[in-house]
Amino acid sequence: MNSIKFLGTAGARFVMISQLRSSGGLWFSINGTQFLVDPGPGTLIRAIKSKPKLNPLSLDAIFLSHRHLDHSCEINLMIEAMTDGGFKKRGIVFAPYDCLYIDPVVLIYCRDYVEKIEVLKEGQRYNVKNLIFEIPGKLRHSVDTYGFKINLNNTSVSYIPDTSFFNELIDYYKNSEILIINTVLYEKKENVQHLCLSEAEEIIKNIKPKKAILTHFGMTMLKNKIWEKKVEISKRVGTEVIIANDGMNFDF
Ligand SMILES: [Zn+2]
Ligand SMILES: [Zn+2]
Repeated sequence: MNSIKFLGTAGARFVMISQLRSSGGLWFSINGTQFLVDPGPGTLIRAIKSKPKLNPLSLDAIFLSHRHLDHSCEINLMIEAMTDGGFKKRGIVFAPYDCLYIDPVVLIYCRDYVEKIEVLKEGQRYNVKNLIFEIPGKLRHSVDTYGFKINLNNTSVSYIPDTSFFNELIDYYKNSEILIINTVLYEKKENVQHLCLSEAEEIIKNIKPKKAILTHFGMTMLKNKIWEKKVEISKRVGTEVIIANDGMNFDF
């Protein structure tokens, strides 16, 4: 059984700093490969307190979509946890160029702890143990930002992290069967590089995944009680839409 654990569902600054929702990112367990995505504040404690416990020493890789703190705050801590305090050289870190070489968020002394550091490049495929993923085109956010598409024998799982809407997005993520979308805003806000609900719906309607999961909620999503709107959104887009909550486990 493959699963995705939502260690946190907070999106952007205010929900993160108030911790109205946790900001611990996503833990994928696929074909025996343990893959942590976007370790924001609280990742380690949320992993350890999960039931059953998620052991950081079992991680095979950590993926950073971009450098913003709600995604990267615990990257160094999780590297230490994945490598048994730096004593077991293991695991891979995937990150955009600017996270490593321009005002780095991955500390230089922690880089020796891992087996490999890979710079994300659009169009490239990467392997982690039993998992292969590819990087669709670059997203539109204020810093280097990339999502991914994991291709499995019978399905595909994609993650669209923080971005503004642009038409090529639909092309980048076509044929995704399970689609996770960071949907920060309830209504569109000019000059804010995040997806709003209607844009996420537009993506789902065009891509037609089997299931779409919305997560990474900003304040307006919480004020509008997004968790109560699952049925109406699913009806509008013609796909089952899941509204993630902290600690949610999605099996597939
Ligand atoms: Zn974010
Ligand atoms: Zn961001």
